[in-house]
Amino acid sequence: MKILVTGGAGYIGSHTCKLLAQMGYEPITYDNLSTGHKEFVKWGPLIIGDLHDTNKITQILKNYCPTAIIHFAASAYVGESVTDPFKYYWNNVGGTLSLLNGMRKTNINKIVFSSSCATYGVPEVELINESCPQKPVNPYGQSKLMIEQILRDLADKEEIKHICLRYFNAAGADKEGEIGEKHYPETHLIPLAIFSGLGQSALSIFGTDFPTPDGTAVRDYVHVEDLARGHILALEHLLSGGESDFINLGTGKGNSVREVLSTIKELGIHAISHDAPRREGDPASLVADKSKAMRILKWQNEYKNIKQILSTAIAWHQKTTSLTN
Ligand code: UDP
Repeated sequence: MKILVTGGAGYIGSHTCKLLAQMGYEPITYDNLSTGHKEFVKWGPLIIGDLHDTNKITQILKNYCPTAIIHFAASAYVGESVTDPFKYYWNNVGGTLSLLNGMRKTNINKIVFSSSCATYGVPEVELINESCPQKPVNPYGQSKLMIEQILRDLADKEEIKHICLRYFNAAGADKEGEIGEKHYPETHLIPLAIFSGLGQSALSIFGTDFPTPDGTAVRDYVHVEDLARGHILALEHLLSGGESDFINLGTGKGNSVREVLSTIKELGIHAISHDAPRREGDPASLVADKSKAMRILKWQNEYKNIKQILSTAIAWHQKTTSLTN
């Protein structure tokens, strides 16, 4: 069974393609390689194309006749979305509309969409469930929420069924070390902390005065392979006639920036860090209530703690850093 994966050359997309292939599906990657990596596409064909090219995406859908779409392709830097909001609405909302246009023309009516906990904004609860108000605080989160709304309206018209997966902080790397996190520029905590420990520049700890136990921000780090499995379970939910829905993917446990750094240290990487002011728009704490994913998708995170997650990330970065030195 063919599944078209937009953004299949990216971080979560490539891990999902690997798992799709292991489970007997044929992933067809559609990616413009603006941030993705050609060498991450190993489990099916790569079509280099842009989502805005409706004719091309429609032709690809006609040629391959995929049973469903898993849609990752997006611009995904929160900070950049604040400085260049148009890019985020154009790429994320505009690109998705073009894809949906192609799906409608070819009668492909199932999509798993990569949404985000950024749609919740600054929540007032400890554990975020799917009914919490969605009030994004940056254009990235807003663009994802707009797409959720479009998909909700199309589902009401019974045109296209969807599962929107709102993920928390994707982390770690493939346990076989074939693929991992590789962003240019890198802005995420875990890779930057590891790079610092491997001799690159010191890490800034953004905010030490949050209302959290140690004053640094708390996030729910979920392993990328667990995310990949969540996508396949969501796909199978739709294939077996399940209803459209919005589902969190997170572990239900949070770790602070300092906890991440001390765990990396326990694993032998001594990151150099210094305290810095808060980064604009960073909530104090974002932790998922995962009960809906467990109930609807029978999903559970296999990586149970931050140490397991970090050890896969360290293995990946050590391998890729030694290759580039
Ligand atoms: N963070 C930090 N220093 C960095 C990068 C991130 O202190 O150089 C903090 C950031 O403020 C947030 C957490 O680490 O509280 C996770 O940030 P990341 O960018 O990895 O993911 P986000 O939660 O922004 O999606």
